[in-house]
Amino acid sequence: MSRLNDEKPFNSPAPWRGNEERAMGTYKEFHRQSVERPEAFWAEQARLIDWERPWDQVLDFSRPPFARWFVGGRTNLCHNAVDRHLADRAQQPALVYVSTETQEQRRYTYAQLHTEVNRVAAMLRTLGVNRGDRVIIYLPMVPEAIFTLLACTRLGAIHSVVFGGFAAHSLATRMDDAKPALLVTADAGMRGGKVIPYKPLVEEALKQAQHPPSRVLVLNRGLDPTMPRVPERDVDFATLAREHEGAQVAVEWLESSEPSYILYTSGTTGRPKGVQRDTGGYAVALASSMRNIFTGKPGETMFTASDIGWVVGHSYIVYGPLLAGMTTVLYEGLPIRPDASIWWRLVEEHRVNVMFTSPTAIRLLKRQDAAHLSRHDTSSLRYLFLAGEPLDAPTHEWISSALPATQVLDNYWQTETGWPLLGPCPGVEARPRKFGSPGTALYGYRVKLLDAQSGEEVTAPNQKGVLVVEPPLPPGCLSTVWGDDARFVSTYFSHFDKPVYSTFDWATRDEDGDYFILGRTDDVINVAGHRLGTREIEEAISGHPGIAEVAVVGVKDSLKGQVVVAFAVPKDASRMQTEEGRAGLTREVMDTVDKTLGALARPAQVHLVTLLPKTRSGKLLRRSIQALAEQREPGDLTTLEDPSALEQVREALKPRE
Ligand code: AMP
Repeated sequence: MSRLNDEKPFNSPAPWRGNEERAMGTYKEFHRQSVERPEAFWAEQARLIDWERPWDQVLDFSRPPFARWFVGGRTNLCHNAVDRHLADRAQQPALVYVSTETQEQRRYTYAQLHTEVNRVAAMLRTLGVNRGDRVIIYLPMVPEAIFTLLACTRLGAIHSVVFGGFAAHSLATRMDDAKPALLVTADAGMRGGKVIPYKPLVEEALKQAQHPPSRVLVLNRGLDPTMPRVPERDVDFATLAREHEGAQVAVEWLESSEPSYILYTSGTTGRPKGVQRDTGGYAVALASSMRNIFTGKPGETMFTASDIGWVVGHSYIVYGPLLAGMTTVLYEGLPIRPDASIWWRLVEEHRVNVMFTSPTAIRLLKRQDAAHLSRHDTSSLRYLFLAGEPLDAPTHEWISSALPATQVLDNYWQTETGWPLLGPCPGVEARPRKFGSPGTALYGYRVKLLDAQSGEEVTAPNQKGVLVVEPPLPPGCLSTVWGDDARFVSTYFSHFDKPVYSTFDWATRDEDGDYFILGRTDDVINVAGHRLGTREIEEAISGHPGIAEVAVVGVKDSLKGQVVVAFAVPKDASRMQTEEGRAGLTREVMDTVDKTLGALARPAQVHLVTLLPKTRSGKLLRRSIQALAEQREPGDLTTLEDPSALEQVREALKPRE
């Protein structure tokens, strides 16, 4: 074992010494080093983790745009997140679980986490899971979910977490793409005090899937006594856990580029993309981000209020804080239940130092009584990071003044990047924050703005362009699309003449190099920080036998950023004639989305029309529909085939008596 991490990396800041030690201009130099001498820079960052075998080559970019980091090096995420800390912090809490749904609280030290993860690894092995096999994890926010993720990476198995809010069809399509050896699920989750059965939906997904796994490991929380069971296929988690009490499973050392996980995300087609993450590059990027961006010290506490089903959960509930030797808080519950002070109570009780959530959650809290915030001692909280969607200035200002001891910092990234792309880097240098902007390009990323038509670089300040990254992408970013290298290239690197990674976001950059995100260049909707594809939702709605055609757009919303609005053409126009008929069909359309994709994708409004606005070549005029729904001008209509279609949209949007 080469304990490279014993030496302090060159030029690498020690955030706990205080930023005041660092001279102004340091970050610029840090970033310059990272992009001009990436191999030297990342070799130093790589000392933050343990390597069983050192790499032969820091970067292999011989087959652009594919980048392989730390080639030949062998490491393991679970070892670095758990085993590595046993020497120094075995008795320190690694994981604190709080559920305001089941009223449970559990605490695991690093030693206990090690025991649990070993046990689950042994269970998975008994069920036939080997290195390279895929395991779908469809679990609520419970400690067993974290044990299972870590057990997979311990074995070199590839986990693919599917967000618990997704419905049967979404789960089935992910199974068909990942072809898992095992599915791990629970009887139910809980939300707002209501039991949400998982198992019936899992059964439905298994029925729909072409490649269902042969075994299903079921965590029975005792929430759903009517849970359907298939005895010859289902395995009870607790029973198997008892059989593997005290089991030890050796870490499987992986070559750095071997996949650690797949996380599906939406794009412009109806088919979700499997973002594939490597092992060594991801571990290094996260360990480095914990130090330089999130400033998390070993022994401190991080509370990321997100879900393990999203990339923020993977990186900053599970791996990031544990790689850094911190205590991570896993919270199952709503931010406003039992009341809107619950998060701040957790901050006080667990002396949280770094927190991470989404702007939507803060907007939700902003609607509650501000007194909730002052009820608890939040003085331990140094930083609150917000990401996933645009952070509007009023929300940023409000939460900044409500938490006077805390710096509230916006940061921008994507499922694909795995860690922030734009944002502050307070572990290197504290810079004044700018409301409305996540900040500058983060180290490792060569960020540019390109003109959408000409592909020329936009260099003048405050000019709009497409936000792109010049490859090689830094460690931690997706290495490919699972099972589809061609899709990786065609989706992300084929928009311009030159091969650059497109983020699909519009942005501007000011004189100081700070970026402002203006919205997506594609038809992707961002609801409460979660990405949904318009095509996916349209395909789900088209699955309703009574619907002939549909257009889905994202419409501005003061709480969730955007909401889904659908315009559907019924096959039988008579269903539109009565108020009752319209209401019935609207409800059925919403239910179809709930059942197919999950309530997350449910349209906030469904409008029934007999015609959709299209160009003469038959292309949907989504932008014009969206503009009308946001009370804006519909834009260029020279290609519109039938003006009455747009009139219908206008009419449908009028508030009814
Ligand atoms: P996801 O992959 O689901 O995390 O969604 C990534 C997308 O969310 C980005 O491409 C942006 O459109 C949006 N996004 C994420 N963070 C921010 C931010 N801080 N400000 C503005 N938009 C953001």
